[in-house]
Amino acid sequence: MRLFIALSLPPDARGPLTALQERLPVGRPVPEENLHLTLAFLGDQPDEAVEALHDALSTLRAPAVPLTLSGAALFGGKSGQAVGLEADGGKALTEMFDRVRSRLRSAGVRVERRRFRPHVTLARLKGGADASGALSVLAGASIGPVVATSFGLFRSHLNRDGAIYEALSVYALVL
Ligand code: ATP
Ligand code: MG
Repeated sequence: MRLFIALSLPPDARGPLTALQERLPVGRPVPEENLHLTLAFLGDQPDEAVEALHDALSTLRAPAVPLTLSGAALFGGKSGQAVGLEADGGKALTEMFDRVRSRLRSAGVRVERRRFRPHVTLARLKGGADASGALSVLAGASIGPVVATSFGLFRSHLNRDGAIYEALSVYALVL
């Protein structure tokens, strides 16, 4: 199954994010219930990995993460693009990222070594589509600070008309 670990976004972030999505001139908006900040993308994992991951993550006691969402983010290329906001979560976020990765390694899950570029994806565009109108709306936006108080292990079901995420478990952060 296709798995990832993400911070959930609080309600006071979701409202402004959906308002911003409505202003984007192009792209397929991410449904509100799917809005998240990915900490680790695990890709396809055997079913047995879920229990080991849950054991590794459920004992992680980390502080809640203050987030400021601002600055246009663009990912992808020919095979599809994603636009959203960059996320600044200061030390709490980078420490959260490091701790999740070290828990993953202990659980025997291979993690990519790519640089962490925290962001919230707001819309997806076809590869090669002109993202500039969306990027200029996003460039002027700033949301927060808001506080992320939980993270979770999610399963992604890929469908033709977009992914559906299933929360396999949710873990509280310490306020
Ligand atoms: P779709 O791929 O159909 O557009 P999606 O991107 O929402 O849907 P997934 O591809 O399963 O669904 O991705 C789940 C989460 O993991 C998203 O936040 C996505 O940006 C992130 N992600 C996916 N692939 C990678 C990758 N190779 N490296 C880092 N993060 C990734
Ligand atoms: Mg994807």
